[in-house]
Amino acid sequence: MIFRQLYDHTSSTYTYLLARRHGGEALIIDPVKEKLPEYLQLIQQLKVKLVKAIDTHTHADHVTALGDLREQTQCVTLMGEYTKAECVSARVRDGEVIDVDGLRLGALYTPGHTDESFSFVLNPDRPEAVFTGDVLLIRGTGRTDFQAGDPEKSWDSIVNKLFKLPDDTLVYPGHDYKGWTVSSIGEERQYNPRLAGKTREEYVQIMQNLNLPNPKLMDIAVPANLACGKVRQAA
Ligand code: FE
Repeated sequence: MIFRQLYDHTSSTYTYLLARRHGGEALIIDPVKEKLPEYLQLIQQLKVKLVKAIDTHTHADHVTALGDLREQTQCVTLMGEYTKAECVSARVRDGEVIDVDGLRLGALYTPGHTDESFSFVLNPDRPEAVFTGDVLLIRGTGRTDFQAGDPEKSWDSIVNKLFKLPDDTLVYPGHDYKGWTVSSIGEERQYNPRLAGKTREEYVQIMQNLNLPNPKLMDIAVPANLACGKVRQAA
């Protein structure tokens, strides 16, 4: 299997390129617009055909490469069913399985960071890994203070959905700010400081008091991402 975890230093975003085999079909999760030339080169070098590009949610900190990848590779662009991005090729429902050349990804609706965030479980019949977008991070969780985020929903998504996956399921987040690359469900259940030993009320309290500044790119990234990564020049 081809598994590449790619990093955008500017936004600390992880992008994942997956394929069953060299010469086969591939999919990409959470690609960043500025990295388009690198993705195209890597896809060519690995001799894979990109057929699907997925965003876990509408990002506020970087512009998506979904629209550009669709133009360049004719891939299908996908987001969860509740996205407001009208331009995606298709929307996936909770429980739906995306199959790329036998590589299976189960869509799991995990709102909280935004109200339209999805996670994707690799091999849902026998989970191997989960791509959590920004709802569950390594030893952290995605902020819930904008884009219809909700700490109660975040708790439910993490505790009642993601933490129901087997403990050895690997966790691949949408971001990491310290350079940590992977965790596991068991590790996060045990050691995530926002969740381990905390009640739902304590978690909500923590999330309501983070007092984070808005992402620098938010006013550009959100409208652009609703338009599949087309950045409009301000008038
Ligand atoms: Fe996000």
